[in-house]
Amino acid sequence: MLKLDAHIHVTPPEISGNLDKYTSKEPYFELLSASPKNKFADAKTVIAELDGAGFDGAVIFGFAFQDLGLCRMVNDYVIEMVKAYPRLTGFIAVPPADRGALGEIERAHEAGLKGVGEIFPSGQRFSIEDADATRAFTGLCAERSLPILVHANEPVGHYYPGKTDTTLRQLEQFIEHSSGVDIILAHWGGGLFFYEMMPEFRQKCARVYYDCAATPFLYDSRVYRTACDLGLETKILFGSDYPLLPISRYIKEINKSAMPPPAREMFLGGNCARLISS
Ligand SMILES: [Zn+2]
Repeated sequence: MLKLDAHIHVTPPEISGNLDKYTSKEPYFELLSASPKNKFADAKTVIAELDGAGFDGAVIFGFAFQDLGLCRMVNDYVIEMVKAYPRLTGFIAVPPADRGALGEIERAHEAGLKGVGEIFPSGQRFSIEDADATRAFTGLCAERSLPILVHANEPVGHYYPGKTDTTLRQLEQFIEHSSGVDIILAHWGGGLFFYEMMPEFRQKCARVYYDCAATPFLYDSRVYRTACDLGLETKILFGSDYPLLPISRYIKEINKSAMPPPAREMFLGGNCARLISS
């Protein structure tokens, strides 16, 4: 059974080793870096984590800074690492509202990266609900068959760094305006997956996927089985948010969750393989 982790953050040693230099101009990066739960990993550490957990591969990406130059720097690192470790697939970090974002997506795609994200609408001041602001960005991703991974969070519950004011309604508007592109909503879409029980919403979300990043901090293990009960077996992706959490934390919970075996297989790798193969 193929096992893929769809959500892993990598940080070039140049950034993790000189943090002050990079946090001073990036308030959202500073906020997340200052969290006691925060950790950094380079690609080599990721490979060791995958080996330890018996995983075949992963999708990796650098931090999506507000500054295009810094995004370019982390993309260069990811480009180099996916060449060094063919088990890794790279996504492109960009500030989507920046004028240079489209050029950077083209450059990094041509250099071998296969998707865009994780984008942080609030942290990067990107108005995802605004069709005019998102059109060129989603259009290019659609044209090049690049899935877009978007950070999402629940509108209720405890605060944590990264819990932003982006609403489920704004995510819905982004989905409405992004035809022809696969959208992966991180962190169970902040709960948006529940509404796939509404027939008209389900239709709208034909190309929407949900990853389970940070589940152990957010939900109990019933969430995995619940997603299957909602009929989302083909739309859910295993993603650990490593190095925030180790893969093993999830596997214990997933084993407890009574996911039907065929759904478990799709969730742990099959769905992700399909998404990144296009
Ligand atoms: Zn996230």
